[in-house]
Amino acid sequence: MPVYFKKEDVENKIKVSILSKNNIGLVPTMGSLHEGHLSLIENAVKNNDNVWVSIFVNPTQFSSSENLNKYPKDLEKDVVLIKTISENINIFCPSETEIYGGIPKLKKYDFDNIDIELEGRFRVNHFNGVATIVSKLLELFKPSSIYFGEKDYQQTQIIKRLISLEKINVKMIICPTIREKNGLAMSSRNNLLSNFDKKNSSIIYNSLNILKNNFKNSDLAKIKKEIIYNINKNPNFKVEYFEIANAKTLQIDSVINPEKSYRAFICVLVNEVRLIDNILLN
Ligand code: AMP
Repeated sequence: MPVYFKKEDVENKIKVSILSKNNIGLVPTMGSLHEGHLSLIENAVKNNDNVWVSIFVNPTQFSSSENLNKYPKDLEKDVVLIKTISENINIFCPSETEIYGGIPKLKKYDFDNIDIELEGRFRVNHFNGVATIVSKLLELFKPSSIYFGEKDYQQTQIIKRLISLEKINVKMIICPTIREKNGLAMSSRNNLLSNFDKKNSSIIYNSLNILKNNFKNSDLAKIKKEIIYNINKNPNFKVEYFEIANAKTLQIDSVINPEKSYRAFICVLVNEVRLIDNILLN
């Protein structure tokens, strides 16, 4: 079996899978894999006849000011890690041309404003870029199930809407966040941190838990302010946002409605490395 398949091989293999009525599970990634990704792949292997992992650092979800070239890459190690789960997993690692033809182009969607909150406030068009690539992958793989991580909760809500907007027949599976021992959510970007910063980044998940434990406290705004102050005390850390948002609409409601579900979302720049995390509050 080849290590990576070309787009036309994928098309042929998918035709065969569909004719054989095989379930196809797709795990889209940007590579530099860690245990978080592997948990998605393991889940896909358990529940599908054919599993595909795509590895593609998608340029349309990075803005011009974000350093796309700095995104960590380690393709050889990724292949070894995938093959430790099963030799039968198929890997698609396309070039930009295979995906976009010419110059990578973004498609714009109407996501009822959930794309402009939280991450979207700081990464303009990021979610249009994510949706553009996921839409292309869904069209190519025609999977029965597609796997995403709860760590990128806002992304999961975008994909849910994309699937509904494009009326795609696919089951979306959201897998729990896998963490380092100190609570830091695993992320490819953690590779860019010094050991010292990685250790101190435990404050991110701790902060989410402090907010969760105080969610019923009437002075939530003050607690939030104190948490931000404490994180920013570390000279390498800068809180970009720390918000409580409606879990469905991702809008930041000024008054908490106990009948609705809320999550806390955080983004901290640790020496310029963007780390995000979130937690269910009620
Ligand atoms: P990425 O390579 O960062 O685009 O991530 C690919 C998929 O893996 C996305 O659906 C992520 O949400 C998911 N993922 C990333 N980190 C984790 C984690 N720590 N736990 C679970 N899923 C994750």
